[in-house]
Amino acid sequence: MLVSAKEMLEKAVAGHYAVGQFNINNLEWTKAILTAAEETKSPVILGVSEGAGKYMTGFKTVQDMVAAMVDEMGITVPVATHLDHGSYDGCKKCIEAGFTSIMFDGSKYPIEENVAKTKELIEICREKGMSLEAEVGAIGGEEDGVVGQGECADPNECKMIADLGVDMLAAGIGNIHGKYPENWAGLSFETLDAIQKLTGDMPLVLHGGTGIPDDMIKKAIDLGVAKINVNTECQLVFADATRKYIEAGKDLEGKGFDPRKLLKPGYEAIIDKVKEKMELFGSVGKA
Ligand SMILES: [Zn+2]
Repeated sequence: MLVSAKEMLEKAVAGHYAVGQFNINNLEWTKAILTAAEETKSPVILGVSEGAGKYMTGFKTVQDMVAAMVDEMGITVPVATHLDHGSYDGCKKCIEAGFTSIMFDGSKYPIEENVAKTKELIEICREKGMSLEAEVGAIGGEEDGVVGQGECADPNECKMIADLGVDMLAAGIGNIHGKYPENWAGLSFETLDAIQKLTGDMPLVLHGGTGIPDDMIKKAIDLGVAKINVNTECQLVFADATRKYIEAGKDLEGKGFDPRKLLKPGYEAIIDKVKEKMELFGSVGKA
């Protein structure tokens, strides 16, 4: 069933596990992630970036596709449709399209403007029963030329944004989007601990889940991380499985060129990867 992310994350904080946000790009991606969630009885958050929303012709298409799939597939676990790193305008569009959750990434605005816009969006979300994620500081990525260490958020600023009434908070703790550089210094548990102590039961969000060692993920969950974003890792396994299929010449055998066959190995690879992550995050059986 389609729900906001609020309740599933409150349960995750109380139960000391994390719910995965897996980003979707098309029908196969969505079907694979919903299948993995249902088979493992895990709550799940489907992340949609503004780029992916555009790619799928708009947020309404995405929302209606997910809603129809949840219905047609008989999905019983809680599912949230969540805008990932939304702009102010993107948030408005997703609210209109019927998303159940949004992330407002106001990190490019001066703090006063970030606060004002966040407050306005919180109000709309409350009214509509949606959840809202805010970001403090900026979480970099390889495209930003980040090397060594990602940014760390100011715990006091985290507390200030948490107190506005957001439902989940993303804060930089040395994490980075995309693949991690060789010389990455790891997560700053000191920062995470300081943020958690000030924000209490606020579900904390870890972006850039791809390539963080499993023991660091587990420690982060122990310290209050209740939502972990995974995107690149599903893209990598999808591409790898598709490459193997083509390099083995399978598209040239019989009707191997049929897209339903051509995309199947990648689709199955996503199911396996998502299940593996749900196991690691501890969300299996928690739906
Ligand atoms: Zn992110």
